[in-house]
Amino acid sequence: MSLIPKIANKTTEVVSFTSVAVNEPRQSGRVSLVGAGPGDPDLLTVKALRVIQQADVIVYDRLVSKEICQLFPPSTPTIYVGKAKDHHSVPQQDINDLLIIKAKQGLNICRLKGGDAFVFGRGGEEMLELREQGIKVDLVPGITAAAGCTSYAGIPLTHRGLSQGCTFVTAHAEKDLQICWQSLAQLDHTLVFYMGLSKADMIASSLTQAGLCAHTPVALIENGCCPQQRVIRGELHQLADLVTREQVKSPALIVVGKVVALAEQLQWFAEMASQQASRLSA
Ligand code: SAH
Repeated sequence: MSLIPKIANKTTEVVSFTSVAVNEPRQSGRVSLVGAGPGDPDLLTVKALRVIQQADVIVYDRLVSKEICQLFPPSTPTIYVGKAKDHHSVPQQDINDLLIIKAKQGLNICRLKGGDAFVFGRGGEEMLELREQGIKVDLVPGITAAAGCTSYAGIPLTHRGLSQGCTFVTAHAEKDLQICWQSLAQLDHTLVFYMGLSKADMIASSLTQAGLCAHTPVALIENGCCPQQRVIRGELHQLADLVTREQVKSPALIVVGKVVALAEQLQWFAEMASQQASRLSA
């Protein structure tokens, strides 16, 4: 007798199966690709939170913060598909297969990703494959790291008189990096590099060789939008040294451009955190 409520509580899978008549073809479930934003749970959209709360199963990545994981309903089964310490990430094809299997079982899946699923998040790849398999998919946009982390660092991505635009670049590629450094250097606007930490040296030297001033302000934002956020600022020629000296760890963004200097006056989040720390120690 005691087993029944235990199973029903443990997985909603069991509950949803019981609603399907034995000989009826089971209806396929739906996958919602949900952007969790850069870490602060208050930056989840209302829609993201609703999908999290209503899902039959949550499949989530490494960049989904632990504070956000704490919002998962305790009775909802969760599957972690991120990189484990000292291990490789789960191959993308295995993740796709998992989503397909679960959706074909009739489950509604919240596929939760850091930031926005369509910004260096392989959301497009997952959506293409799911749609090819005839599975219903929708997407809930999230705040991408470039927007969230620069906001929390007090760096406006654009600013009249300083930067008329911004470009998001990934320094990570499946095969060869295909970046036109000449174009980037000539844009004279804000550049944000995702996954650039291990390539900081190459980014700085490529940009300077392409003509960008070596004294251009740069920032490294580590664990942006999280209580442990660190913002390290300097100039382009110092970028690689800053990474080594400050032992910057992933996840981190590299921001290059004149707007970085504004953080001196606009670093509201760091100020708030230090005021809070001094109140606590008083
Ligand atoms: N889809 C995500 C990006 C995934 S790529 C988005 O839209 O934000 C992973 C890279 O994003 C990391 O290597 C890092 O460069 C950046 N990133 C994600 N979250 C971050 C955070 N909280 N702080 C700093 N960088 C972050």
